[in-house]
Amino acid sequence: MPNPKNSPPPHKGYRGRFAPSPTGPLHAGSLVAALGSWLDARANQGKWLLRIEDIDTPRCVAGADQEIMHQLMAYGLRWDEDVSWQSKHLDHYQSALERLNELHLIYPCTCSRQTILEELEARGTTPVRNQEIVYPGTCRPQEIGTVQKDIDLITNAAWRLELPPKLIMDFDDLIMGHQSQNLSHEVGDFVLRRRDGLFTYQLAVVIDDAQQGITHVVRGQDLASNTGRQMHLQNILGYKHPQYLHLPLVLDVHGEKLSKQTLATAIPTEDPRAVLAQLRKAGIHLGLRNLPDGENISVAQWLLAATQAWKNSSIFS
Ligand code: GLU
Ligand code: ZN
Repeated sequence: MPNPKNSPPPHKGYRGRFAPSPTGPLHAGSLVAALGSWLDARANQGKWLLRIEDIDTPRCVAGADQEIMHQLMAYGLRWDEDVSWQSKHLDHYQSALERLNELHLIYPCTCSRQTILEELEARGTTPVRNQEIVYPGTCRPQEIGTVQKDIDLITNAAWRLELPPKLIMDFDDLIMGHQSQNLSHEVGDFVLRRRDGLFTYQLAVVIDDAQQGITHVVRGQDLASNTGRQMHLQNILGYKHPQYLHLPLVLDVHGEKLSKQTLATAIPTEDPRAVLAQLRKAGIHLGLRNLPDGENISVAQWLLAATQAWKNSSIFS
């Protein structure tokens, strides 16, 4: 059921992207995602786009987008086409939400995190730490398709996507192999617009990947569990699925993912030798072998060699 008004523009060939959230500068972990997606695009003679995912405004840091662009340039990771900022596409997300409402696939939810946890506890299914909080369907209408409400007349409610009772999503990841997730049981009806009115990552990323004609999504393994949700949204919105490839995460000494929350340090940009050293570390993490290790090599030369090495990388299953 593609809607001509919302149909993504036609694009040709491989189109990849790097989609950082501007919550701080890039660190060793985000460099791996940037480098991996860049190498895959270059190895396939494709385009590599940069999208700044700045819709979760309370988490965004002023100037972080400029800093990320400065870092990418210092690392020779040049992007094609104009940079895209999600905050400039709120109208796209709103019209997608309205379409889903016309299809009677979403409903308003006024539960707080606390009431959801209480409901789960009452059902004996309290989630353990770091586990997905599966929404128990408290606000789900008795009969979906009977009430159609005007999204903007309802305030202080989140909008959730109603899932069928047993929805299993499968995909083949080039590194992780075959992946399967029972969305109904492991995720539950998920939020597309939050109570505070902000659109969620799941909705925005699907609209933008489609609008930008992205054919290959290369990103960190921490995002792999979102892929089923995104593919389900692609199905109902009539979009094609990109190919997915999830890269191994960089862990700190405690075995935790490096993140801005754990105060991972920014990758350096001033000293070319430090830049090369970071690139080498990221390359080794990606399983690249036989890379030039001398000091008299430019970043551009290193990236060229790495693009060759990517084609023989041992991380592919
Ligand atoms: N903005 C997301 C992040 O920085 C990445 C989104 C994606 O690659 O799908 O974690
Ligand atoms: Zn609710």
